[in-house]
Amino acid sequence: MPAVFTHQFATPAHKGTAKVNTGLFINGKFVDAADGATFDVYDPFVGKVITKVAAAGSKDIDAAVHAAQTAFKTTWGLKTPGYERGRLLGRLADLIEQNIDELSALEAMDSGKPFLHAKTQDLAGVIGCVRYYAGWADKNYGQTIETTEAKFAYTRHEPIGVCGLIVPWNFPLLITAWKFAPALATGNTVVLKPSEVTPLTALRLAELVAEAGFPPGVFNVVPGLGSVAGQAISAHPAIGKVSFTGSTAVGRKIMETASKSNLKRVTLELGGKNPTIVFDDADFEQAIKWAIGGSFMHSGQVCAAGSRVFVQEGIYDKFVEVFKGAAASFKLGDGFDPATTLGPLVSQTQLDRVLGYIEAGKREGAKLQCGGAVASAAGSGYFLQPTVFTDVHADMKIVREEIFGPVAVIIKFKTEAEVIALANDTAYGLSSNVFSQNIGRALRVAHALEAGSAYVNQSAVPDFQVSFGGVKQSGFGKDMGAYALEGYTQVKSVHVNLGINL
Ligand code: NAD
Repeated sequence: MPAVFTHQFATPAHKGTAKVNTGLFINGKFVDAADGATFDVYDPFVGKVITKVAAAGSKDIDAAVHAAQTAFKTTWGLKTPGYERGRLLGRLADLIEQNIDELSALEAMDSGKPFLHAKTQDLAGVIGCVRYYAGWADKNYGQTIETTEAKFAYTRHEPIGVCGLIVPWNFPLLITAWKFAPALATGNTVVLKPSEVTPLTALRLAELVAEAGFPPGVFNVVPGLGSVAGQAISAHPAIGKVSFTGSTAVGRKIMETASKSNLKRVTLELGGKNPTIVFDDADFEQAIKWAIGGSFMHSGQVCAAGSRVFVQEGIYDKFVEVFKGAAASFKLGDGFDPATTLGPLVSQTQLDRVLGYIEAGKREGAKLQCGGAVASAAGSGYFLQPTVFTDVHADMKIVREEIFGPVAVIIKFKTEAEVIALANDTAYGLSSNVFSQNIGRALRVAHALEAGSAYVNQSAVPDFQVSFGGVKQSGFGKDMGAYALEGYTQVKSVHVNLGINL
């Protein structure tokens, strides 16, 4: 029997107990891994193990896929009408809302973001997203097509079957919601693998899915290592689609494995090295506010982080001064203290990785304006000072590679054409931000940037009604919005001979 992890949490405004079953959730029940394997889960604020969670192996993935396949054929898929799928998703959104403090506490403890950020950004987004797709569940129709008088044709948007969902650790439950909500709304069943770094909220969600009344097998959660459980999902012949969010390196492997197994469909939401472009005529205070948030939110562990900051020469000196002052003023500390504005990095591995980039920046001759060191005064966890570099060159590692930490580089530019070329000089194409009060220029530049999203006079903030996804090596396919529905359906064309001789 898997153990239950229990934790009392408290902020001045919120007190409660978080309880999570630490097993695998397969066919509506929590079970141990077939071989009894587990992995450690850490609290990044204190850098200590808080619990162990079952680690799925390939036998467990088989069991989860079998349960999902059976549910698809017998109780879900085309057996449950769209309005009923929508009703259940709506009920689930209500249950998530009723348990928002507990889920936010688990997310904070597991991923290292302050409780209030987890609650107002992540969990609010989860609830909105699940409600949004509840609304879509009975509205995703095909077309009727008139060809000749003798023929009538129509299309059906059919579910694919079993979908494997593989998610990262930076927005664990939010990114999970972006995937499972459209997958279930369109009639698929799912096998979800949360990141081994942050498995707790997905497991608590599984209990709420059961409580909402979804049939067993529709929603399965299989925490485990990427190289084992994730690999088994990508290779499984009975999985029709894998939706993945994570690094470009792992995305490549998943696509390769998918192509060698059953040619399953793949959606890849990968890394980014996103530009923030600030023109002389921008609203200065707004640009600073958004550029700071865009660079350092969740300690920069954000795929859409706009931490390659291009500033036009007329405001460059002032911008650097104000930006580094704002970066240095974040309050790092206890995630349950409402005054805390920045948490630690998610793990020791991530901290070491980001420190490696800071060293590379110094070695390659960039000028360190602030930060650059472990913030040990903030606590015993993986805290790092927000860090700003200037005087960088386009070929430096800190300019080219995704750092995924609280490190921004500021680059001076002169002209619009120059900054478009500099911003597009990257293998990635996830997101981009443009600041200018000249709307013609702002939109011209937004259109010229090679990115799946462009934000004008704001930094990247996802909205569940608007699709999100990359171009170039940031991947393909969409999460969120109406376009995401296409990723979980296949179109069947039906041709009907009306028997009229023309
Ligand atoms: P990661 O690629 O290491 O892991 C992501 C997930 O893939 C985890 O669940 C992991 O267990 C699994 N995995 C690892 N190896 C695997 C394999 N061989 N086969 C199948 N699955 C495997 O990424 P991460 O460190 O968890 O997250 C950070 C990365 O995610 C960054 O590159 C970031 O840009 C990206 N990201 C992208 C988006 C987006 O929407 N584009 C959003 C968030 C994060």
